[in-house]
Amino acid sequence: MTTAIDPSDVNSSGNNPGANVDKHVLLLKPRGFCAGVVRAIDIVQIALDTFGAPIYVRKEIVHNSYVVDDLAKKGAIFVNELDEVPSGARVIYSAHGVSPAVREAAKGRGLKVIDATCPLVTKVHVEAIKFAKQGYSLVLVGHRDHEEVEGTQGEAPDVTQVVSTVEEVAALVVPDPDKVAYLTQTTLSLDEAKYMIEALKKKFPNIVGPHAQDICYATENRQTAVKKVAPGADLVLVVGSRNSSNSNRLVEVSQNIGTNSFLIDKAEDIQPEWLEGVGNVAVTAGASAPEVLVKEVVAYLQSRGFGSVDEVEVMPENVRFGLPPEIVQAIASAPGAITQPRA
Ligand code: SF4
Repeated sequence: MTTAIDPSDVNSSGNNPGANVDKHVLLLKPRGFCAGVVRAIDIVQIALDTFGAPIYVRKEIVHNSYVVDDLAKKGAIFVNELDEVPSGARVIYSAHGVSPAVREAAKGRGLKVIDATCPLVTKVHVEAIKFAKQGYSLVLVGHRDHEEVEGTQGEAPDVTQVVSTVEEVAALVVPDPDKVAYLTQTTLSLDEAKYMIEALKKKFPNIVGPHAQDICYATENRQTAVKKVAPGADLVLVVGSRNSSNSNRLVEVSQNIGTNSFLIDKAEDIQPEWLEGVGNVAVTAGASAPEVLVKEVVAYLQSRGFGSVDEVEVMPENVRFGLPPEIVQAIASAPGAITQPRA
């Protein structure tokens, strides 16, 4: 699914007569698809290839309208809740995970489940279960309307409170202030999470947290790249959908640095006035935005006189996740099925 920028596309203004040497595109790397998104999309595509359409998917498999529309054209049916799935049908859980209540409902309906939850979201679920079993009150830092947060909270709903502002931290009431644990959503702003955790530590000095931060590597790396490049840019364009948490955070990171930034689903969303007086425009993409959309943005900028495209690699990123056992088994036992996962 990922299409890399062709090296011949960068550092070049050869085919663009309107190119201006003072207008540059800085293409951030890493950007775009993370390992959890690649895995989730592969799961849907392999399920379609193996079992045939329709395949039901609970919620958007990842938060990107291009990806969802593409899979829908191939036969995936996206539903909001399991009661929209016919009894006994096959359903895929999205990369953002589900609560135990959803898993129970699927069992009750006799649905054949394939779980595309990102392993790094599952890690947070496991931590929630562990802390709850140990008798902690849980504070989950995140956005309460986000599917990932709903899923994690659902692991221990009676003892979990979701907070997204320091005011909400100040208002927290727990049975024992010395027995509190915190977790975070995987796609938060690193700076905001730090600020929130500091507030929690101030309120509950004995609070405990996960061994390693819950914010995932992809969120961290994309934010680090923006932090590094945004100070030298006049504008940062983030390719990603409105409901993509990590994409929204990239815009905020840039704006907090003082560099104007916009979230765009596609090249057509760019307003010409954003480019007025802009010399360097940095382009990045959220973890669920496909490279083909980045290429279209770069092509648009070149057509508007941005004469050079330089890829700025801030750090290498080579993470991959294996497929879930249910799909590996299903592939192995399906007649004439694929035997090798996609690249
Ligand atoms: S953004 Fe992070 S948590 Fe979400 S799917 Fe990608 S790797 Fe997993």
